[in-house]
Amino acid sequence: MMPIADHDQLLRARTTLGDYEITVCTDGSYYLDGGAMFGVVPKPMWEKRAPADPLNRILLGTNTVIVRTGKKTVLIETGIGNKMSEKQVQIYENKQLLPQSLAAAGIDPAEIDIVINSHLHFDHCGWNTTLTAEGKVVPTFPNARYFAQKGEVEHGHRQLDRDKVSYISANYDPLVESEQMTLLEGDAEICEGVRVELYPGHTAQLQAVHIESAGQHACYISDLIPTSAHLDPTWVMGYDLFPLTCIEQRKRFLAHAIPEKWLVLFTHDHAVPMGHIVLNDKNKPVLAAE
Ligand SMILES: [Zn+2]
Repeated sequence: MMPIADHDQLLRARTTLGDYEITVCTDGSYYLDGGAMFGVVPKPMWEKRAPADPLNRILLGTNTVIVRTGKKTVLIETGIGNKMSEKQVQIYENKQLLPQSLAAAGIDPAEIDIVINSHLHFDHCGWNTTLTAEGKVVPTFPNARYFAQKGEVEHGHRQLDRDKVSYISANYDPLVESEQMTLLEGDAEICEGVRVELYPGHTAQLQAVHIESAGQHACYISDLIPTSAHLDPTWVMGYDLFPLTCIEQRKRFLAHAIPEKWLVLFTHDHAVPMGHIVLNDKNKPVLAAE
């Protein structure tokens, strides 16, 4: 395993899982309100794990995972992308680095066979498509089949007051219309060694991605557990639509991830993109020392 702490490093981590190679790239860091990231947890507790800046924001990552199985190249999540307004870029300070990050990792967008979005919030599917200098929206991964949950697209289309800012239709509608995106209804096998499973709570149809090779198991759990600071089942986010469901689903996840020694891939942890989870002497889930 090779976690990389350097803040500006374009290649965040690379490891092997059985016969597969797993690479973590990034669209760069961005900032969100620390209170929103930790819900009802008091600030004196969360800021020990995630220090806040003078605007109360904490630093987050936009981790994209590339799995090379030998037969397929699979890309999980596509960061924030280049379609944000100037004002949004000012707010989030996102860096639009995924193309450079993939290049630094030696990955050509044309070689990607499969793209999986855990859900369709803008910070998870932004580079599904690219806004060109001519103002056109084109698929970033021309040879890929994209996979997302049908219920996520439908939820995005509803444009509810609570979360309409999270859904930018240019990230998925053009792919749905051209039929380059397959809309799933529940758990599914995507290709040999890669499958998706619903873990609702953050949204109703959030899907985790399981990667399994030669007896080893990794899981991209996405916003159910966005960073290694969110391992306590009750430390759910203000953003979560169904916090009680989140707590139950985190417990369900940990009941497998800990004893079965899954490699957990964190979507928004810029410093710790992957790690194993163990129970400490107080029976709390924590990151294993590696
Ligand atoms: Zn989300």
